[in-house]
Amino acid sequence: MQILSGLSLNDIEKITDSLHASKFRARQIHNWIYLKSVKSIDEMTDLSVKFREELKKVATVTDVKVKVKQESSDGTLKYLLEFPDGECVETVLMRFDNRANLTACVSSQVGCAVNCSFCATGKRGFIRNLTYREIIEQVLTIQRDTGLKVTNIVFMGQGEPLLNLDNVLKAMKIFNENFQIGARRLTVSTAGIVPKINELANLDMQSTLAVSLHAPSHDIRQKIMPIENRYSMEELKNALKNYIIKTGRRVTIEYLLIKDLNDTLESVKKLVEYLHDLKCNINLIPYNPTDKNDYQRPSNNSIMRFKSLLEQSGKKVTVRLERGADIDAACGQLSGKVKN
Ligand code: SF4
Repeated sequence: MQILSGLSLNDIEKITDSLHASKFRARQIHNWIYLKSVKSIDEMTDLSVKFREELKKVATVTDVKVKVKQESSDGTLKYLLEFPDGECVETVLMRFDNRANLTACVSSQVGCAVNCSFCATGKRGFIRNLTYREIIEQVLTIQRDTGLKVTNIVFMGQGEPLLNLDNVLKAMKIFNENFQIGARRLTVSTAGIVPKINELANLDMQSTLAVSLHAPSHDIRQKIMPIENRYSMEELKNALKNYIIKTGRRVTIEYLLIKDLNDTLESVKKLVEYLHDLKCNINLIPYNPTDKNDYQRPSNNSIMRFKSLLEQSGKKVTVRLERGADIDAACGQLSGKVKN
């Protein structure tokens, strides 16, 4: 049985050819899958009943199950999806009241090997990479369930996207071509896998690279992100400079603010120093407590002080709006654990 979600137009044409149908039928099926996000072949109402019956004998729309769906008081939706092998990942839809943007935060791996100390996913360890189709299914599931069209995609769910780069790049191409989501609306986030950043620098991509820096110095970063022992902040900076020169694109620096750990005056001074010659925007993310560690969220005053000191260095700084903290859908809270 063929799974239609994730197939290219060419692949769908092979199926319609085998059923002696025209290429136009393949185009119709393609639109039903990617633009109308149907749940079943029966919903493809511009295909004749006879042809739908024939198609159902050889194909189905999806093989992914929604195991749990949760809705936050702020409208954020979190889905726990199950793949045929029984592995599960979480995917999140963030809605912002006054914006038309609907942002899907997708996972790229089951578990994660990077093991950042503040992250619920890292605690599970690495289980396996997602295929590009499993990445795409996350967005299709959201669209099928809500009837809404996702406008932006961030690879900030479970897993380190650059350690599954082939599948991530294939999925991005399909998001761009089949879902018609502009490359600039796709963001890939990394904990700082230096050789892969160098690889990305050589690709002609218009999407955004976000880097989880989360610390102003080697010592602090080492405490919270073991990846610092593999690729130091200095190596990371060289890779980012190279990326910026080659792509002409500004990078986004993600900085998780943790009370008394990396939110001090000394930290902001060091961070300004580190970033002074990098073409970047900075996104501050107040820490969302989980039951997995003792880290605390800084006070609002402390967050605002950190932001304004950073801004004095001339960088554009935003504080990420917190979404879905009450359903553990916020940054660092995704664990992929089954909660039913
Ligand atoms: S924050 Fe990202 S890279 Fe770090 S352990 Fe969690 S999923 Fe992996």
